[in-house]
Amino acid sequence: STGRDKIYIYNSEDLIVKERRRDIYWVPLIRKALRDNQLFLVFQPVVQLSDGNVSHYEALLRMRGEGNEIITPDQFIPVAERTGLIHAIDLWVVENAIDFLAALPTYMSYISLAVNLSSTAFQYPDLLSTIKDKLEMTWIDANRLTFEITETAAVDNFEKTRHMINKIRALGCKFALDDFGAGFCSFNYLKTFPVDYVKIDGQFIRNLLDNETDQILVKSMVEIASKLGKKTIAEFVESAGTAMKLKEIGVNFGQGYAFGKPQQNLLEGHKVSLGLML
Ligand code: C2E
Ligand code: CA
Ligand code: CA
Ligand code: CA
Repeated sequence: STGRDKIYIYNSEDLIVKERRRDIYWVPLIRKALRDNQLFLVFQPVVQLSDGNVSHYEALLRMRGEGNEIITPDQFIPVAERTGLIHAIDLWVVENAIDFLAALPTYMSYISLAVNLSSTAFQYPDLLSTIKDKLEMTWIDANRLTFEITETAAVDNFEKTRHMINKIRALGCKFALDDFGAGFCSFNYLKTFPVDYVKIDGQFIRNLLDNETDQILVKSMVEIASKLGKKTIAEFVESAGTAMKLKEIGVNFGQGYAFGKPQQNLLEGHKVSLGLML
């Protein structure tokens, strides 16, 4: 089929050689970061558009480099996914997100987190036990964790993934479908995986005010999501104007630089985001 031909072209030899070179460079650095505790999480507020209150924070992964520079996940997550290191990263992220919640002072115990998992995370049986054990050990309420899943070619086993998601949901955790609308099978994912939130991909939000097509698409996504009983989150909300528009369209939550950048300190983000009048 033409679909297959296209995939073949994307995986041209040049690209594979380039990826190999990147992998060879990054793999020892990622291993070292895992070993020496050079990974850390930053937190970005997700704001309820009806009143401007912070709903929860998304935990985003960072790696500290050799020269103390901060490396963003776009540079090392794809490598980790190709080389199998992603499994260790997924477990690290889960454990550290829960530890973070456990370390919050009591007056902040209403705060909840969204955590990104790779799509292959659900292929490993120890994901469930890691979440379960860590929640039990820390006494953290499972409903304070939402897992964000993204469409990738890596999900070759939908049934197994769905089964694992259901087991994690049974603990009380929630799920979000990330980057909705960006991939080739967003609808298929929406149909297959039981999620609570749909995160509308930033590409539809970025130019929302100037682009009528984006507005129509976002309206449609909101309608579909709400008919299916799911809440919507818009990412890449960069201006108050965009936030207003999204509120008017009926999107439930917004996330983006208009409310706050990802940062290590929660309290600051909390205040900044509340400062934006809606
Ligand atoms: P994502 O899950 O779609 O995360 C949103 C990305 O958009 C983040 O980039 C965030 O910093 C950025 N962003 C948020 N608001 C704005 C905005 O208003 N404008 C612009 N221009 N950008 C904004 P980041 O942190 O570099 O993460 C990139 C991707 O890496 C994430 O996309 C996610 O797919 C992946 N990732 C991040 N953390 C983890 C993790 O812990 N585990 C895994 N498996 N993947 C992760
Ligand atoms: Ca995400
Ligand atoms: Ca996203
Ligand atoms: Ca993304």
